[in-house]
Amino acid sequence: MESDRVIESNWTETVEQFDQMNLRDPLLRGIYGYGFELPSAIQQRAIKPCISGRDIIAQAQSGTGKTATFAISILQQLDLDLKECQALILGPTRELAQAIQTVVLALGDYMNVTCHACVGGTNVRDHIKRLEQGVQIVVGTPGRVLDMINRQALRSKHIKILVLDEADEILSQGFKEQICDIFTTIPENIQVILVSATLPSEVLDVTTKFMNDPIKIVIKN
Ligand code: ADP
Repeated sequence: MESDRVIESNWTETVEQFDQMNLRDPLLRGIYGYGFELPSAIQQRAIKPCISGRDIIAQAQSGTGKTATFAISILQQLDLDLKECQALILGPTRELAQAIQTVVLALGDYMNVTCHACVGGTNVRDHIKRLEQGVQIVVGTPGRVLDMINRQALRSKHIKILVLDEADEILSQGFKEQICDIFTTIPENIQVILVSATLPSEVLDVTTKFMNDPIKIVIKN
């Protein structure tokens, strides 16, 4: 992780310690408790603008610390008293969605947050039941998430952050239509955080259609 380099960015500020990021105390405890000592290159650049609510494009390979970047940013922005979905994280595969859920719950260990993995291949009725109870963070594959929104099991009214993780993979797997449909069913003017190893035209298309003056951070490892 020390070898990460920022190769291009229209955002120059870096924050070199987690405890200089004005994070909530229980979140900071979760970060240190998870074993992180210092933020990685992408975390140093991206967490602060993410928390400010700006749209972000983070171009980074896996292993650079991007999951923790958006997980920390979401956990910092959650209204902990509101037991409704406030952040939606979309990824290309069930395995990735489940791995993200694990990280979110680990970093949020002292925050009493709820996070549900909404993925295909598991019982629809179980998802509906869980979502109807009100879950603050939902992570899932686009098809299953859209299905849950259409069934009104996932209430989208309070969503304020949407993360597209591995956006290039999501789009190359043919989820473009579902992504566009999800954008039309969630509130307008929400924060969009897009993470991708590459930025092909399909991804750029999504960024121009659905993002507002994004900050772009590129990390090479
Ligand atoms: P990505 O989403 O880019 O694949 P992750 O956020 O999953 O990256 O991080 C990759 C690995 O590095 C994971 O094992 C994670 O626990 C670890 N990691 C991430 N951020 C840090 C950090 N600041 N300090 C130490 N380890 C970290």
